[in-house]
Amino acid sequence: MIDVLIIGSGGAGLTAALNAKKNGSEVLVVSKTYPTHSQTCQAQGGINAVLNETNDDNNQNYINDTYKASHNLGNQKNIKYLCENSKNTLMWLDSIGVPFSRNKNYGIAQRKFGGTKAKRTCYSSDYTGLKILHTLYDQCIKEEIEFLNEHYLLDLIVEENCVKGTIVLNMQTSELIQIAAKTVILATGGYAGLYHQFTTNSFVSTGDGIAAAFRAGAKLSNMEFIQFHPTTLENKNILISESARGEGGYLVDKDGNRFIDELKPRDEVARAIFKKNHDGEKVYLDLRHLGIEKIQEAMPQERRLVIDFLNLKMEEDLIPINPSAHYTMGGIETDIDAKTSIKNLYACGECSQSGIHGANRLGGNSLLEIITFGQVAGKNASDSAKEIDDLSISDIQYKKNEKQIEEIFEKETNLDYLKIKKEIGKLFFVNVGLFREEKKLIKALDYINKKKEEISKIGIKNKDKIYNKNLIELLELKNLITLCEPILLCAIERKESRGAHYRVDFKDKSLEYEKNSVCLLKDGKIKNYFEDVL
Ligand SMILES: Cc1cc2nc3c(=O)[nH]c(=O)nc-3n(C[C@H](O)[C@H](O)[C@H](O)COP(=O)(O)OP(=O)(O)OC[C@H]3O[C@@H](n4cnc5c(N)ncnc54)[C@H](O)[C@@H]3O)c2cc1C
Repeated sequence: MIDVLIIGSGGAGLTAALNAKKNGSEVLVVSKTYPTHSQTCQAQGGINAVLNETNDDNNQNYINDTYKASHNLGNQKNIKYLCENSKNTLMWLDSIGVPFSRNKNYGIAQRKFGGTKAKRTCYSSDYTGLKILHTLYDQCIKEEIEFLNEHYLLDLIVEENCVKGTIVLNMQTSELIQIAAKTVILATGGYAGLYHQFTTNSFVSTGDGIAAAFRAGAKLSNMEFIQFHPTTLENKNILISESARGEGGYLVDKDGNRFIDELKPRDEVARAIFKKNHDGEKVYLDLRHLGIEKIQEAMPQERRLVIDFLNLKMEEDLIPINPSAHYTMGGIETDIDAKTSIKNLYACGECSQSGIHGANRLGGNSLLEIITFGQVAGKNASDSAKEIDDLSISDIQYKKNEKQIEEIFEKETNLDYLKIKKEIGKLFFVNVGLFREEKKLIKALDYINKKKEEISKIGIKNKDKIYNKNLIELLELKNLITLCEPILLCAIERKESRGAHYRVDFKDKSLEYEKNSVCLLKDGKIKNYFEDVL
C-alpha cells in the first residue's frame, strides 16, 4: 500500500516526494502533466534567501519585508520559519545540483527584487524554476520514485474527515482508478488560470486540487487575494520577470518619463500601470541602458521571447507591457506542519495558503515556499503514515465519480464550454481584477451562479475514450467555476483595500478585516467568515 500519495509534480510535489522517500515511505506521485511540464518550469526571476547575515541584510530584515508585504495577514511563526531556513533550503538545492548563477567569488549570485532593499534573490540566469524543477526530477529518478503521469485527480476519498486516497482518471484511456493511501499531499498549483487570456499561467493552472479539497470539506482561505504581475508583454501575457527591474530596468510612460519607484511591491506597481493603460496610455519597460552584454547574461530567455512575440530588441527598443493575473495567494489552509483541516491530508506550494504571503507575495518567495513547505509536507506525511497499519475504504466516492464521467459521455451538448472559459476570464479581469467594487463583484457572482447551473448539464462532443482532451477541459472548467464562488464571496465580504485586493468603494485598510477569510462547504452549503491571523 502507498504511504504517501502526492498529487502534482511541480517543485512542491517533487520536493515532498524526495523528503517522504528519504524518511522511509512508499511514495507515488500522480500528475496530469509530465513533471518537467509543471508550471514551476516557467519561473524566471529567482528564489529568495539570506545567504550571509551581514550589515546589508539579515534574517530579521527578510522576516520584516515578507510580513510587511503580507499587509499583516502573514503568520509570523510560519514566515520566521521560512526566512530563517532560507539559507539551508538554498544550500540543499545547491547540494543536489541546481546550477545557480555565481558571483565573482564563486558564491551564489543574488539580485534585488521589489519590496526589499537587499540583494536577496538567487537565480539561475532567467531559467531559475526550470533548473530547480529539472534537478529535483533528476533526484526523483535517482531515488526511484514512482510516477503516474497523465492521470487526473478527480476527487479525494474522505471518510469521517480523514483522507484515505483519491480517485483519478487515466487520461490516456478515460478509465477511473481508486488509489488508496495512508496520507495524501496536494501540490497541484494555483488558480490564476481562471483569468484565461489575461494570465501568465499555463492552461493547466485550474485549481483542481483546491476544488477537490473544497468539495471534500477542507477550509480554503484568502481566496480573494490574486496577484497581478506588472510586466507582461502587451496583450501577450508573457512574463518579463521582476528581475528586469531588479537589474535596473525602468518603467516609463509614453513621454519616456519614469512614474513610479520600479521596486515597490507588485500590487502598487501593477495598479499604477493598469491605471495608465485604463486611461488609454501605454507603459514601457526600458532596458536599453543595461546594454546587450548584461541583458544576454541576466535575461537571455526573456530577450528571445521579446524578439519572438513582439519583434523588438530589449537593447534597442522600449518594450510595451501591461499587468496580468500571475499568482494566487489563497488556497487550502495549512499550518506550519503543512496540515490541512482534513486528517492526513497535507498541502504545499501554490495550492496552499500557508500563512506566508498574506495579501501580497514578494517576488522570489514562492519558489522558496514550495521547497521549504514541500520538505515539511513530505516529512510530516511520511511520519503520519507510519502510524497507520490498516486502511479500509468504501467504494462510495468511486461510484460517484464513475457516474459523473458516464453522464458527461452520455450527455449531448450544444454549449461551447471553451467560450464559457473565455467569458469567465474576461469577466474576472474586468470585474475581479486590480480595482474592485461591490456592484461589479455581485455582477460576476450572478453570472457564475447562472453558469454553474448551465455547466452541470453539459456533456462533450467528442465521445472517444482515448486521450479525450474535451473531457479534461470540461473537468478543469468545472473546477474553476467551483472556485469562483469562494473567491467572489470573500472579495465581497472584505470591505477594505489590502494588498492585491483593492476596493474602490473601500479605499483604506480596516482593522476590522485584519483577518484571514475562510470558505468551506458544510452540508452542501458554503460558509464564509473571517478568522484571526495566528
Ligand atoms: C511565468 C511565471 C514566472 C514565475 N516566476 C517566479 C519566480 O521567479 N520566483 C518565484 O518565487 N515564483 C515565480 N513564479 C511562481 C512560481 O513559479 C509558482 O508559484 C510555483 O512554481 C508553483 O509550484 P507548485 O509546485 O506549487 O505548482 P506547479 O508547478 O504549478 O505544479 C502543479 C502540479 O500539479 C499537477 N496537477 C494540477 N492539477 C492536477 C490534477 N487534477 N490531477 C493531477 N495533477 C494535477 C500539475 O500537472 C503540476 O504537476 C512564477 C510563475 C509564473 C507563472
